[in-house]
Amino acid sequence: MQGQMMDYQLTLRPVLERAKRLFPRKEIVTKAGPSLERYTYEQMTERVGRLANALEKLGIRRGDRVATFAWNNSRHLEIYFAVPCMGAVLHPINLRLPGDQIAFIANHAEDQVLFVDPSLLPAVEKLAPYLKSVKQFIVMGDKVPDGTTLSPVHAYEDLLKNASPDYPWPNLDENEAAAMCYTSGTTGNPKGVVYSHRAIYLHSLGLSMADSFGISERDSFMPVVPMFHVLAWCIPFATVMLGSKLVFPGPHMQPRDLAELIQAEQVTLTAGVPTLWMGLLHLLENERYDLSSLRGMIVGGAAAPYAMIEGFKKKHGLDVMHAWGMTETTPLGTVSRLKSYQLELPEAEQFALRAKQGIPVPGVEIRAMDEGGKEVPWDGKSFGELQIRGAWVISSYYNDDRSAESFQDGWFRTGDVVTIDSEGFMQIVDRTKDLVKSGGEWISSQVLENAIMSHPKVLEAAVIAMPHPKWQERPLACVVPKPDFKDSLTKQEIFEHLKPRFDKMYLPDDVVFIEAVPKTSVGKFDKKVLRAQFKGYKMPE
Ligand code: ADP
Repeated sequence: MQGQMMDYQLTLRPVLERAKRLFPRKEIVTKAGPSLERYTYEQMTERVGRLANALEKLGIRRGDRVATFAWNNSRHLEIYFAVPCMGAVLHPINLRLPGDQIAFIANHAEDQVLFVDPSLLPAVEKLAPYLKSVKQFIVMGDKVPDGTTLSPVHAYEDLLKNASPDYPWPNLDENEAAAMCYTSGTTGNPKGVVYSHRAIYLHSLGLSMADSFGISERDSFMPVVPMFHVLAWCIPFATVMLGSKLVFPGPHMQPRDLAELIQAEQVTLTAGVPTLWMGLLHLLENERYDLSSLRGMIVGGAAAPYAMIEGFKKKHGLDVMHAWGMTETTPLGTVSRLKSYQLELPEAEQFALRAKQGIPVPGVEIRAMDEGGKEVPWDGKSFGELQIRGAWVISSYYNDDRSAESFQDGWFRTGDVVTIDSEGFMQIVDRTKDLVKSGGEWISSQVLENAIMSHPKVLEAAVIAMPHPKWQERPLACVVPKPDFKDSLTKQEIFEHLKPRFDKMYLPDDVVFIEAVPKTSVGKFDKKVLRAQFKGYKMPE
């Protein structure tokens, strides 16, 4: 017997129309230099209609890819809705990637139009000769700066002025592409991921569930994660669906900028990679802000250290919401929110659980598989490769013959090594390539890093595998002291801190002090660079 329901396609059109009808008075704020630009959902949705008409006039058709090269701001949000709702495909490009990778991505996606923030014009001018498919450029401002070498080029505001706000939104199929992103390509060229309307719609509901982040109309949400990093974790779609106030930091993402914005705009939720929040936590040691409006800081993309979760809670009463995901999973996968009875646990155990990556949200399932292809038990100890399947997980990469190796029996292979405990809490032990393989044992670089970062004098720490004649590999700890302890922190103190916590064989063979941990284009620890830096480094015997 079949269910007898309407054929209601889960697309972004009703999301946009809902926002227009129900939340016209709600605000969108963008930090632009020293000033704040603000307008309403009514203005935003009107401009989205104008933009769709303008794009159509420029020749954009259903299925065409439209790229952006921009920070988090309100014009970027307008493009986020105009492009998919007219049936074209939104493609935000990671502007921090090296030029050759950007050109590869834009050519592989066959982007037709490229939107660019005025401040990023020089970078795009340099790239333009290598962009084979881009037919027009649009500068996201009032006018095209004099002397630009881009051609043909239009000013965003001119296009909007001359276009009608009414656009006949087409009835799309929920499985049509809405957007695409590329992974940051730590090995080989970046891989393309194409998101359907349906996936983004369901993912928005996933983000809104009380046991994930419970986003609501009452929130004032500041997405710090860039709109070119997995579509700002798809937060712009969920917040517009619900009518939340939005606060965009523009290119201003230093801890002080963020603290000021939270305070001024009464931000209730924010999201970004751990490095940002480590910086904020450090700032709060010396400067005072009223951040009491904040009900949660969503942290993902890399492990939220125990010390950070504890530090925010104990010193400032702020809650880190730790989550795991990937470009390939739109990205919401797991969230570390304690179950009711876990709230009875001693405080330290609660922090330890919250430092795990958490349980899968409804809509996705996880398992961990050993090297022989067998599922490992949920005992919190056995290591396995994390695999995931669900309503917003990809089924293949875009035009890429590397797809086959990433799937097993309908599950996506993440390349993360994890444990899962009896409560279903997943913990990332490492990325496969970052594990330290020492004499047949696996040492988790992330567990060691976490422990080192809980030392009060340490700002950041990254652990890498060094080749070893007897053990094959041994860990080297690269440590960044907090500025006040730059000259005084000793190796001995780090070892004393680790000894009670680990078996001798898990201790790093050496500790080196560095100025900063190199970061990837999306702000994660870049161990590839660190490994190159310490190539040939002589470890103590
Ligand atoms: P890239 O890091 O290549 O830019 P993604 O942004 O898609 O690509 O990153 C996905 C990866 O980031 C995951 O496979 C995992 O290794 C890591 N990651 C994401 N969230 C967490 C987390 N909360 N803790 C630890 N690692 C995480």
